[in-house]
Amino acid sequence: MRTILLLTLLVLGQTAFAACDVTITAGDGIAYDKTAIEVERSCESVTVTLKHTGSLPRNAMGHNWVLSKPGDLDAVAQAGLGAGLDNNYVPPGDARVLANTNVVGGGEETSVTISLADLPDAEYAFFCSFPGHWAVMKGTLKIT
Ligand code: ZN
Repeated sequence: MRTILLLTLLVLGQTAFAACDVTITAGDGIAYDKTAIEVERSCESVTVTLKHTGSLPRNAMGHNWVLSKPGDLDAVAQAGLGAGLDNNYVPPGDARVLANTNVVGGGEETSVTISLADLPDAEYAFFCSFPGHWAVMKGTLKIT
């Protein structure tokens, strides 16, 4: 009896925490597997893991995950283009970049953890800042 109760609590605990961790994948095409991510405000932080399920190297078909305010997306992406692959196509020290992962290639994964205290709005934009990707490779992060 005790064992069953304990197992139930463990399962419930994992379910409660699962919503705070998000996995997003991208392959050798210019697309994420999801265009919307939703996390609950009750999460202290959210960890986004990006998995590149393709086989092309990062300099040919690299992907990253960058978070900004929706209105900053285009400007941040343009600035990232100039920053180059050495900077993961993210402008260094740019306050408009709220979070970002490294650029990964096929078979690699990367993650970033963001404190929700730093994200007071209800909606943000995420995108891949690899050259030519952000026009289509983007989505919304909603905090509900
Ligand atoms: Zn990409």
